[in-house]
Amino acid sequence: MSKNKVFVGAVPVGGGAPVSIQSMTNTDTRDWRATVDQILQLEEAGCEIIRSTVFDNRCLEALPEIIKRIHIPLVADIHFDHRLALGAIKAGVAKVRINPGNIGSEAGIRELAECAKANGIPIRIGVNGGSLEKDLLEKYGVCAEAMVESGIRHAEMLEKYGFCDIVLSLKSSDPKTTVEAYRMAAEKLPYPLHLGVTEAGAGEMALLRSAIGIGSLLMDGIGDTVRVSMTGGVIQEVEAAKKILAAAGVRQDDVRIVSCPTCGRTRVDLASIVARVEGELMNKGAKPIRVAVMGCAVNGPGEAKEADIGIAFGTVNAAVFGRGEILYTDKLPGVIDRFIADCKKLCFD
Ligand code: SF4
Repeated sequence: MSKNKVFVGAVPVGGGAPVSIQSMTNTDTRDWRATVDQILQLEEAGCEIIRSTVFDNRCLEALPEIIKRIHIPLVADIHFDHRLALGAIKAGVAKVRINPGNIGSEAGIRELAECAKANGIPIRIGVNGGSLEKDLLEKYGVCAEAMVESGIRHAEMLEKYGFCDIVLSLKSSDPKTTVEAYRMAAEKLPYPLHLGVTEAGAGEMALLRSAIGIGSLLMDGIGDTVRVSMTGGVIQEVEAAKKILAAAGVRQDDVRIVSCPTCGRTRVDLASIVARVEGELMNKGAKPIRVAVMGCAVNGPGEAKEADIGIAFGTVNAAVFGRGEILYTDKLPGVIDRFIADCKKLCFD
């Protein structure tokens, strides 16, 4: 976790705050109704900070309409025009993403730093392996050193004007380069780190690349906020981020279901039973207890002795256990309903 802490609206980022989940809308920001609809769906899915692109004055006009209808902080994503960043801050955004090196004038950088400081708005510098400065590319090529040096360069442009509420991201489409760059930055810089693997692709491959990149860093204690990039669904991005945080043991805000891979001892359709248990318990605000669903009563209770409650199947009976101790044995298939009812008591009472 970073040394420094910033606030994105009411959400703390860095300095030991819980790792927050963010996403980015893919609607046209100027269409504020569609953008609000998508943000409300993202909130429902667990998104805590949302970013929207701001590329012209009509986007600026849409910002107040969006902000007053949503419940999570809105970040303006701006590429070159610092006047749009100033306009977005005036419109009430909670953070701006802009690289000061792209502004093109010292007066513009100064104006941005002063405006953000006066309004208590952090700035994210987003270094991307695909758009590094020419001299850095000549000196290093695309690598972690070049990305970190670029981040330092941009940060110094703001520090020069006494602005330090900086969040940094160092994204590459290659998880290995991404991980190296963040590790290096975490050693050298005090700024909160926004983790992500950019252009990760679609579907399972995107999830795996993000899980490897983001997950390795989280397990090193690096990273303060995460955004999973996936071609296709913004809701899936948030769900993937939640799964990665839970799998890395950084945040557990839902029930955790563990199940065995099954083997020659299994006599039931364990996959469909697990799906049913997940459907009854997950994403429903349950307490973060551990529930085990195991394929046999010989090894199941022992293999899942950490579970608060678990079930292990025989041929006609199943044993329900808690912390490795058998609680009761009952007949199939009714025992599954009884087990789910007992899980619900533990999860929701
Ligand atoms: S719990 Fe039983 S069924 Fe599942 S993998 Fe282990 S031995 Fe096989």
